[in-house]
Amino acid sequence: MEIHRVLLLLGSNLGDRTEKLASARSLLLQSVGPVVQASREYETEPWGDFAGGETPGPFLNQAIAVETALGPEAVLDAIQQIERELGRPEHRPEYAPGGKRLYHDRAIDVDILFYDSEIIDTKRLTVPHPRLAERHFALEPAAEIWPDYVHPSLKISLKELFNSILLGDSQ
Ligand code: ADP
Ligand code: MG
Repeated sequence: MEIHRVLLLLGSNLGDRTEKLASARSLLLQSVGPVVQASREYETEPWGDFAGGETPGPFLNQAIAVETALGPEAVLDAIQQIERELGRPEHRPEYAPGGKRLYHDRAIDVDILFYDSEIIDTKRLTVPHPRLAERHFALEPAAEIWPDYVHPSLKISLKELFNSILLGDSQ
């Protein structure tokens, strides 16, 4: 059985955020596989625009590495199941009139940043996560645990990528 290494980003800005991250890790252990590395938990300011005039509170973000026998789509199924279990209401993606994505507060968000060194682009799944390189809150915890991992399409390490956005003006 082949074992894959997956880097996930957990985020929560509603309720007991530390408890939500802990619950997500234990549910991931049950349905995806062992959590072999975890970054520290980073408190971060909300990123992007929020729907319906919501005033979002700060997020807690954490990157974790999981070992799994599941394929990428099965990992996505499992994380969406966990999001529902932890009380995240279903929202279709919403957009502002100009086409800009609008976000919601969330008890838990689990995103797949990397799946081995695969590049995946299907209707449901884009891996590496397309907005990683512009999101300080995602890159910092990812670079903490996988500094030497080479981004499969950008071809530079996460450490280098993080240093390069620190020099730029992205959030
Ligand atoms: P976001 O994480 O950008 O706030 P959502 O969590 O609401 O948005 O996810 C919206 C959709 O993104 C999901 O239905 C899923 O099919 C899709 N998606 C595409 N690529 C990924 C990925 N790498 N990780 C998680 N979801 C993804
Ligand atoms: Mg998500």
